[in-house]
Amino acid sequence: MFELLKRLSDAHGISGYEDEIREIVKSELEDYVDEIRVDKLGNLICVKNGGEFEVMVCAHMDEIGFMVKHIDEKGFIRFAPIGGWFSQIALGQRVVLHGSKKVYGVVGCKPPHVMKDEERKKAVEIKDMFIDVGAESRDEVVEMGIDVGTPITIDRELVKMGKRVTGKALDDRVGLAVMIDSLKQTESDATIYVVGTVQEEVGLKGARVSAFAIEPDVALALDVCVATDFPGTESLHMDIKLGKGPVITIVDASGRGLIATKDVVRWLKETAERNDIPYQLEVAEGGTTDATAIQITKSGVPSGVVSIPARYIHSPVEVVDLRDLENSSKLISRALERVERYF
Ligand SMILES: [Zn+2]
Repeated sequence: MFELLKRLSDAHGISGYEDEIREIVKSELEDYVDEIRVDKLGNLICVKNGGEFEVMVCAHMDEIGFMVKHIDEKGFIRFAPIGGWFSQIALGQRVVLHGSKKVYGVVGCKPPHVMKDEERKKAVEIKDMFIDVGAESRDEVVEMGIDVGTPITIDRELVKMGKRVTGKALDDRVGLAVMIDSLKQTESDATIYVVGTVQEEVGLKGARVSAFAIEPDVALALDVCVATDFPGTESLHMDIKLGKGPVITIVDASGRGLIATKDVVRWLKETAERNDIPYQLEVAEGGTTDATAIQITKSGVPSGVVSIPARYIHSPVEVVDLRDLENSSKLISRALERVERYF
C-alpha cells in the first residue's frame, strides 16, 4: 500500500489539471476492468462488468494548489489559491510550477525582520506572498515556460513517520489508493464503476457529471476526514482516531452536505461487523465529499462515504495510518460482494 500511495501522493494535479494522476490510476486498473473511458470533464471511468446491479465507487484525483496570476518585471510571481488554503501554511513552501516544463520555486513574503510589531503578529495573506523561481526578470520567467494560468503544487514527498506516513495531497490520494486496492481484491457480481473524479476541491464538479451519466443504483465516495486525536480538536467533541479503522459517515456539514442514505450506512456497518473490520462513525459539522453531489443527481442515488482519518488536512504534512487504508480497502471489497441484498 505504501508504494501505491507514494506514487499517487508524489504526483501532481490541481483541480482541472489531473492528467498525471489519471494516468497512474489508469495504469493501475487497466488489467482489472473491462472498459476505461475519460468523460468531457476529465473524469476517469473504469467499468468492471457484472450483473444488472450497478455500483459507483469514486475518489477525487485533484489536490489543492495555486495558479500563476501575475509575473512582475523583476520576475516575482503572484498567485491565486485553487481550493481551500489556510494561508499561513502556504508560506515558506517549496513549490513546483507546471508550465511547459517543471520548475521549482519558493513562496516568500516581506521578511519579519522589517515588519512592525503589529504586522508580525498577523497571519500573512496569500495576496501578500509571491513565488521566487530564481529568475531576474519577467522575460526570464516566461522563457522558463511559465505564464498566467500555470498550475502550481507543493513539492513534498511521502515518507514513513513512526507507524504512520506523511505527505501532500493525501486528500484524496488515500481514497484513490483504497479504491484501486479494493477493486483488485473484490469478487463482486455487480457491475462496478470505479471513478477518479476531477475538481472535487472546487465544488464536487466531476462527481456530479459522472454520476449523472452512470446513474448507479448506489454510490460510495472515498475520502479523508478530520481526525480528532491531536491537540486543538478537543472542542469538536468527536472521537475519530488514526489507526482505529475506516470512518463511516452518517452526516457531514450538519446535514447541509450529506445525510448518508440509511441503507448505505447499514450495509457498511454490517459488512464491517461480519468481517471483524474495525470502524468508526462520524457526525460532522464541517466538510463534505463527492457523495453530496452524487446523492442528488437525477432522481437521487443512495450514497455514502468511507473516510480515512487524517491529521492536518489541506497541508503538505497530512498524516494517515496505513492500517486504516488496509481496513478501508477490506471494507469496500467485502461490501461490494453483498451489495445487492441491501438495495
Ligand atoms: Zn478530499
